Amino acid sequence: MGTTVYLGLGGNLGDARAAIATALERLDRVPGVRVVRTSRLRETEPVGGPPQPRYWNGVAELDVALPPHALLAILQQLEREAGRDPAAPRNHPRPLDLDLLLWGEQRIDTRELQVPHPRMHARSFVLEPLAELGVQLPPDAARAPAHPELLHAPPEFAARCSAWLEGGCRIGLVPTMGALHAGHATLLRRARALCDRVAMSVFVNPLQFGPSEDFARYPRTLEQDTALAAQEGVDVVFAPDVSGMYGDGFCSRVAVGPLAGELEGRARPDHFGGVATVVAKLFTLARPHLAFFGQKDAQQVAILRRLVHDLGFPLALVECPTVREPDGLAMSSRNRFLTVEDRAAAPVLFAALQRIRRAFLQGERDPRQLLAQGEAVLAAEPRARVDYLELRREGDLAMLPAGPVDAGRALVAAWFGPPERTVRLIDNLSLQPQPDEEP
Ligand code: AMP
Repeated sequence: MGTTVYLGLGGNLGDARAAIATALERLDRVPGVRVVRTSRLRETEPVGGPPQPRYWNGVAELDVALPPHALLAILQQLEREAGRDPAAPRNHPRPLDLDLLLWGEQRIDTRELQVPHPRMHARSFVLEPLAELGVQLPPDAARAPAHPELLHAPPEFAARCSAWLEGGCRIGLVPTMGALHAGHATLLRRARALCDRVAMSVFVNPLQFGPSEDFARYPRTLEQDTALAAQEGVDVVFAPDVSGMYGDGFCSRVAVGPLAGELEGRARPDHFGGVATVVAKLFTLARPHLAFFGQKDAQQVAILRRLVHDLGFPLALVECPTVREPDGLAMSSRNRFLTVEDRAAAPVLFAALQRIRRAFLQGERDPRQLLAQGEAVLAAEPRARVDYLELRREGDLAMLPAGPVDAGRALVAAWFGPPERTVRLIDNLSLQPQPDEEP
């Protein structure tokens, strides 16, 4: 006795019924596989894909003494031998389709195989023949899988990511503090394109806020964030609470280098230590292959690159370009706190950066002249209380060597609004035009 396995049967090119019958005969002859019974085949309308003939569909019950991936390889071989093009897109016509639907009560989540089949709850051409055989669906097959799955407990999140790793999946991690906007969405999209499984964390990390900063009023919008994550195909949203991440007696910190005391670090002395600590913890829980960060926080990226290099995290950082509002303001979860007047004034940061770059592209190489151009733009907007405007080396944001500038990045930070409700905004721009940028 092996495991009871249900197989979806289908096809709509050529004599699909004959192809299904031949496949079942051949399966039954495989050592370790027995075809126990089959539903009748019924004609069904195609779902999705180009205009195409109707399908023949049914299910088979198997008794299997092989591992799931061994059976999967045999099914794929049978599909190929029936003339199916393995490179054809999903929902295109095919002579034979053999889908693993259920494997006993087991949940399988590997790169090649997800069982219960994640779309079976929505397919009457699978559900009806299963009902004909009197099959009781396990609860997670009968309804749409929660997508994304929402996990709060760090050990549960670590276990889910470990299972993906064991299944050979390439994991992408997108750390966020929530209050998602289109900037975050591009990180998620990039992760979806490059990885088999995408985890997004939503955690307003107290360690990276100073005592007089906006931790308490930072926007928390988990429901909308989860909806956006669903649209972008995120598999897991990890939203721990503070006590889950930093339980009783938590006292360890990641120390970061001198860059953490410059630029943003002058006004926010513990900020990057707090970022590095939470990111290191997220890396340890998720063990991602790729982690996605926005260039809007260029200093954060530079510090995290060092962290990954220095501590040897086995992963690569993927840096994604800054997404802006139509008027140039870099999208930020904090923009919602700007008054109408400050919102109208805030694009001045990008305008100043652009002015510097324009001067550079027109041949200006004197760093003082370049900065003076940006400062003139900022000075014309009294609502912006500028903290810094600097030119730094690309990548590691080290000081530029004295003398003419031949490449670099301009970075700016400013406060808007009254001191008791101040909003700090940052932005940065490479002096060289970027390949994915409009001229
Ligand atoms: P936050 O939720 O602000 O911690 O941001 C989470 C991630 O999204 C960070 O890697 C940010 O750099 C990135 N991000 C924030 N704003 C933008 C933006 N406007 N464009 C691209 N990425 C962004």
